[in-house]
Amino acid sequence: MRLPIFYSVLAMSFFTVSKAHSQDEFQVIESKITRYIKSDVEGNQFNQDLKKNSLAIQNDGRWLGIDYSSRAETNWAPLIHLNRVKQFALALNDAGAAGDKKLASQTISALRYWLQQRPGSVNWFQNDIASPTAIGEILMLLKSNHTLPSTLQDSLINSMKQGDVVRAAGANKLDIAIHMMYRACLTRDKVLMDSAVNQAFMPITLGNRQGLQYDYSYLQHGPQLQIASYGQVFLIGEYKVASWLSGTSYAIQSEKLKILDHYLINTFLKTIRGRYIDFNTEGRGISRNDILDKTNITTKAGAHSLLALAKEVNPKNVGVLDEAEQRILQIQAPSFAVKPSHTHFYKSDYTLHNRPAYSFNVRTVSRRTVRTEFGNKENLIGKFLPDGSTNIQRTGAEYFNIMPVWEWDKIPGVTGRDYKVDQRTTIEWGERGVGSFIGGTSDGLYGTTVYQLDYDEVTAKKAWFFFDDEIVCLGTDINSLAKEAITTTVNQAWAKGPVKVFENGIKGIWQDSIGYYFPNQGDLKWTSGKQSGSWSLINANRSKKVVQGKVFKLWFNHGHDPVNQSYAYIVKPSISENEMKSNKALNTKILVNTPAVQAVENEDLQMLQVVFYEAGSLTKPNFSVTVDQPCVLLIKALKSKNPVLYLSDPTQKLTDLHISFSSAFLDIKELFPISLPQGDQKGATVSFQFN
Ligand code: CA
Repeated sequence: MRLPIFYSVLAMSFFTVSKAHSQDEFQVIESKITRYIKSDVEGNQFNQDLKKNSLAIQNDGRWLGIDYSSRAETNWAPLIHLNRVKQFALALNDAGAAGDKKLASQTISALRYWLQQRPGSVNWFQNDIASPTAIGEILMLLKSNHTLPSTLQDSLINSMKQGDVVRAAGANKLDIAIHMMYRACLTRDKVLMDSAVNQAFMPITLGNRQGLQYDYSYLQHGPQLQIASYGQVFLIGEYKVASWLSGTSYAIQSEKLKILDHYLINTFLKTIRGRYIDFNTEGRGISRNDILDKTNITTKAGAHSLLALAKEVNPKNVGVLDEAEQRILQIQAPSFAVKPSHTHFYKSDYTLHNRPAYSFNVRTVSRRTVRTEFGNKENLIGKFLPDGSTNIQRTGAEYFNIMPVWEWDKIPGVTGRDYKVDQRTTIEWGERGVGSFIGGTSDGLYGTTVYQLDYDEVTAKKAWFFFDDEIVCLGTDINSLAKEAITTTVNQAWAKGPVKVFENGIKGIWQDSIGYYFPNQGDLKWTSGKQSGSWSLINANRSKKVVQGKVFKLWFNHGHDPVNQSYAYIVKPSISENEMKSNKALNTKILVNTPAVQAVENEDLQMLQVVFYEAGSLTKPNFSVTVDQPCVLLIKALKSKNPVLYLSDPTQKLTDLHISFSSAFLDIKELFPISLPQGDQKGATVSFQFN
């Protein structure tokens, strides 16, 4: 259960301006920023470009071939001018006071030309962020050897006063705050620095409309799951600024650092298995090649990488960040130092289930959240991604770069129509979900997630029951009048080794050290063979080259016009073929799978997990549980005098409900009242000990 321990942070988040300032502090910050800007430079190519651009610049400070009147939205040509001047500034900064006089005078002409032209774009980002940031970097680099006449410098600083930092949100707010910090350093303006720093760290609070949430998930572009993508940009930006300010009176406050570290360690890093991140965390970025590979966040990628910055800002976390880094760099196995954990993110309708042997995560959507977007011509056919997709990882590489060859109406875990041709998403930048009974209960280690599907003329009640070695996946009340057959896909991952089918005794299929059990059979189909496609099919900005690979695909066919159909399968994500052959009984027992109740019991764990879609009872020979409202519940120590109940309300509308429970050890006949979390904790799990 997540407690509201960070409530107090909001009230304390305002940066206090009463701290002592000194010119030394500005020098410290300035030299850190300058060092940061300089470390972007790469040797040979840089020198070649510098030479070329110095030869090509005209006497009046412009380059032929740059359209200074361009107002283009992207690839805005005038920015090339500033990037070239930045090169000059880098070279001059390196050369010190004895710098190249010709280059210095060319730099001055180029900056004068910029001020005369005042290029602008129809895209506010170019005017409010890209231009002032580039000018700020140039001025920071030129400051130490006094290259510029002071009137020119003043005019340029004036031209940087762009962007409404107060109104801007998320990464944009941070970007504007950063060029304000440059300006504050250049002018030694303490008031400006106070305000820039205050704004820069402002996104590090919980309960933002967009951005970081109370459940430590990250939403952007409406309430849309973006734990990596925008969440990763947020992490890098905040740690970057924190690294510039550490050791000064502007240093990030410890309460904010705690929040930032928590998001990095307990959310973001847990979505990475081995080297690869969950495909659901990247938003529309899922359609970019290599996006799942997280090598670029490790220190191997340089001093500006996310983990390098996070370690620098908070050395206390070096141990745990090193462990993650060793998994990502494949120095250690994907299981290395992975602790069992289970989290349901009730603000983003996402579930994270980690074990040393595997990750099994579920992405859903409700009327409270937004479906995975398509936009900028990216993620063109990811239409069904949020309909209960399951990311099942052992090595981590199971889905790496599989996206161009995926059949996109058979995304792992999803129930939907089996089209002949993958469907284009029609609504840009994310479509609101419609379902209201979507949520999850968790005790931090185990949990149950429910998704009531209602999309594309298909309805179903889907639930996942998470244990140590097994995940039970149930679906019921599957209905559709669409003209296509309806399917539920169990998995669609890279084929690895042989597929083994078990038909006597246990019914199941084994592939790539994952066992899939089908206690109630069903019309099962599987293929293991070549699939082909191209990145441009899913992302119009990418290559049209045909790519192909061998894919293992396993699904239920519910046929045409299904009426109240159901499915049941159990995934054991770490099992050898021999273990499966030995016909060892499963630890879990499916008790019921009806439109009213879905329930699973794990005898070893003495645990019961139930989804009640309506008020009612679940009565078994050993126990009986009754609720007066729909809910998702988990009971531990089932056969004892002190069972512990964990419960949540997937509608996030109830204030309380009543429950009774009886077993051979305990008899609570009257309905017991339970208050449900309210406010920002709506949808979170509440726990209660019987007796
Ligand atoms: Ca299809």
